[in-house]
Amino acid sequence: MRTLIRARGIVDGTGTGWREGLSLLIDEERIVRLGLASELRVEAQRELDFSNCTLVPGFVDAHTHITIRPGEGNQHGQLAAPPVWQAIRAVKNIRQMLQSGVTTIRVMTEKHRIDVEFKDAIERREMVGPRMRVSTVGLTATNGHAPSLPSVDGPDDLRKAVRRNLRAGADLIKIFCTGGVSSTFGMPITASSYSREEIRAVVEEAHRAGKPVASHAHGGEGVTLCVEEGVDSIEHGALLTEENIEKMAARNTWLVLTNAILFHPSGIERGDAHQPAIMSKVLQAREAMESTFERVKEAGIRFAVGTDSMHGLIGYEMEWLVKHGITPEQAIVAATRNGAQVLGLADQVGTLEPGKRADFVVLNGNPLKDIKAVYRVAAVFKDGQMVVPDQPDQQVYQRVKEEI
Ligand SMILES: [Zn+2]
Repeated sequence: MRTLIRARGIVDGTGTGWREGLSLLIDEERIVRLGLASELRVEAQRELDFSNCTLVPGFVDAHTHITIRPGEGNQHGQLAAPPVWQAIRAVKNIRQMLQSGVTTIRVMTEKHRIDVEFKDAIERREMVGPRMRVSTVGLTATNGHAPSLPSVDGPDDLRKAVRRNLRAGADLIKIFCTGGVSSTFGMPITASSYSREEIRAVVEEAHRAGKPVASHAHGGEGVTLCVEEGVDSIEHGALLTEENIEKMAARNTWLVLTNAILFHPSGIERGDAHQPAIMSKVLQAREAMESTFERVKEAGIRFAVGTDSMHGLIGYEMEWLVKHGITPEQAIVAATRNGAQVLGLADQVGTLEPGKRADFVVLNGNPLKDIKAVYRVAAVFKDGQMVVPDQPDQQVYQRVKEEI
């Protein structure tokens, strides 16, 4: 069945600007084309009227976790909690993601294969949630970040761990290559936790299986080694050095920014306020991030965004970018097309183009005029199905229409 989604205009995620007066025609789960409602109507069997709203692609959260809530503190303790406790909490976290317009996520470490189970359950339509790319258990050194994970040292054991993760269903391999902000102990956030030989072993194993490698790394030697050895994305990157930035630009390495957890008052600042070891790193990373980002922009490094478990705050990631000199449209592209590219899903999602999956967000307002419109989510569609509000019947459509 073909459905016309009437809109006031579209921001399609390709960087072509505000497309005044365009609506969307979808056929079940795919986009047929964009056009004027009067032209598309002849092909449509039904019509949903969002004619006061803007359509944007479903947002891609390129770095998150499904079981953690940073504002509650002790993230590593949460990561190590029993699986049933985690699963119950993940349901609400996933709901918050959808409600903020996130239709695709990359899960950057969980235990108990909980990410694989949720991904499969969503694909089987047991439950509604964003499409997922999962990393299973991140690989960390004995003295590295993420102390709740089993540590892996040495090239041989790392090769084995990569293979174990791939067998468990990992779509990508996550490694922790520098210290991290949320640990109370371990190495500084600019120190490298793995040697070149260890990083090389991970990249070789993953790439031979056709899977990308994402590295938790803030700056310094850990980033340099990762980039030189072919890691596909640097995660966080608050303290990137000149050398790091030069190398990332030369290799076209992705940077995945995670600024909500660092800057938003309900993030790590709330959860771990009583931990001086963490709070000093929060302040250090905040101060560095502002100047790092100026240099990232100048160097033309490609970037996407992730909430890093700040469920529901993908809008803040975009707002942060705009506050730091990015145009609203480029901020939306970072949270849509760029994220899809990082996840290897650019042929499926991330832009509103014919043939792509019908993942889109209905926004009250024009986000190119005021980026805060990305918070004003009237409805969310994934694979052509309205998943927010969660009772997609005609009454709900009517209610949404009235609220507008
Ligand atoms: Zn993370």
